[in-house]
Amino acid sequence: MFHLTIAEAHRGLKEKKFSAVDLANAYLNRIGKIDEKLNSYVTVTNEVALQQAKEADAKGTFDNPLSGIPMTLKDIICTAGIRTTACSKILENFVPPYNAHVYDRLRAAGAVLLGKSNTDQFAMGSSTETSCFGVTKNPWDTSRVAGGSSGGPAASVAADLAAFSIGTDTGGSIRQPASFCSCVGLKVTYGRVPRQGVIAYASSHDSIGPFGKTVEDVALVLNAIAGKSERDSTTPDVAVPDYTQSLKKDLKGMTIGIPKEYFDEGVEKETRDAILKGIEVMRKLGANVVEVSLPLTKYAIPTYYLIVKSEASTNMARYDGIKYGLTAKDAKELEEIYVKTRSEGFGDEVKRAIMIGTYTLSAGYIDAFYLKAAKIRALMKREYEEAFQKCDALVAPTSPFTAFKIGERMEDPLAMYAADTLTVPAGTVGLPGLTLPAGFDSKGLPIGMQIMGGQFQEEKILHVGYAYEQATEWHKQKPKL
Ligand code: GLN
Repeated sequence: MFHLTIAEAHRGLKEKKFSAVDLANAYLNRIGKIDEKLNSYVTVTNEVALQQAKEADAKGTFDNPLSGIPMTLKDIICTAGIRTTACSKILENFVPPYNAHVYDRLRAAGAVLLGKSNTDQFAMGSSTETSCFGVTKNPWDTSRVAGGSSGGPAASVAADLAAFSIGTDTGGSIRQPASFCSCVGLKVTYGRVPRQGVIAYASSHDSIGPFGKTVEDVALVLNAIAGKSERDSTTPDVAVPDYTQSLKKDLKGMTIGIPKEYFDEGVEKETRDAILKGIEVMRKLGANVVEVSLPLTKYAIPTYYLIVKSEASTNMARYDGIKYGLTAKDAKELEEIYVKTRSEGFGDEVKRAIMIGTYTLSAGYIDAFYLKAAKIRALMKREYEEAFQKCDALVAPTSPFTAFKIGERMEDPLAMYAADTLTVPAGTVGLPGLTLPAGFDSKGLPIGMQIMGGQFQEEKILHVGYAYEQATEWHKQKPKL
């Protein structure tokens, strides 16, 4: 049962082939057996899952495609009464008093919560190694990382430990782990899905999106979570279409752009070849293919990291040892409480963000660093707008390389940041990007294809992804666990 896609499981539930409780139990049993190999969950919500599944069965209609479907949420998404830790010691025992709006929307659709997934601490990282609960392992090779920061969601979906998951993507945190683990992941346009109740990393970049086994599943989840929210003023009133209506098997009339800077020397040859082969598949499906150039891509990493670390340093200020979570035990004076709590509670990558961001925002440096990066960001936005006048979607690798070994990049923050070269631009310019399975390298590790689109053009990239997926078999391969 745990192999089924959302669409297949929905049919099974509707035709009463099995109940929502059967489905939840199938996943819970598998989590019990397999997850110790992967560490994709930080909290398994057995009782909540069975209760919610019972409710779906009691209702019995299964009208909504997500009704009775088991999911996980990245552990930065607030769940009332269920601890939400950001995988940081500073929030290790934090139990939110309310739900994130995205969770309320999923519950309204009838989805069932299996548990909370591992992530890099406060979503800062590219490997899930900064989690205070330990690394999530890659289901294809457990000596390697699952990617990050949403390593838990990606590994749980790829290993059939959840039917779908919800993660966040600031500069790649959905796309890169989905690519490393071989599942589908969607970063939406900034503002497409409400962020209320999701622990912030960089507020002008953060976006929430689904992980699924297929493009269709991702479209089904997006239907449930997209749209204006009275709880998040950054969600504009842009109509939410039925995203499954855009899924067509041919690409006639579509123009695909190849951004040449995304294929340069830094990209492993096997990855590059797999994506170029994928573009040939799209050509056969009727797409017109053009080359485009985005010269500012070379500034993407410094631009992104200067801005997000600045925003992060501000967002992290609220963890003061008083309002939420950890309070250092033996501190007496106010300042001592701040210093001790934050020193004990935050991990190294979060401290690095606070130090970089405080520096780049300080008088005397703000013009040289933060404001300069903000200007490049504006120019990058213009560059992408121009590119999308020439094509409907950009197709490129998701990551320059496949999953790396656990520990390989942890000692060198710059090497870790470089892992995001191809995913940070969409974060910086606020545009949507889909990743889906596009092959395996000679080590047997998954390769992901990234499809980027213009603002609120999720339909187009889902269409391109679906057509490619239906013409290939990569998404049917499963890791042996
Ligand atoms: N690795 C990137 C960072 O640490 C991206 C993380 C994310 O998208 N949340 O900023």
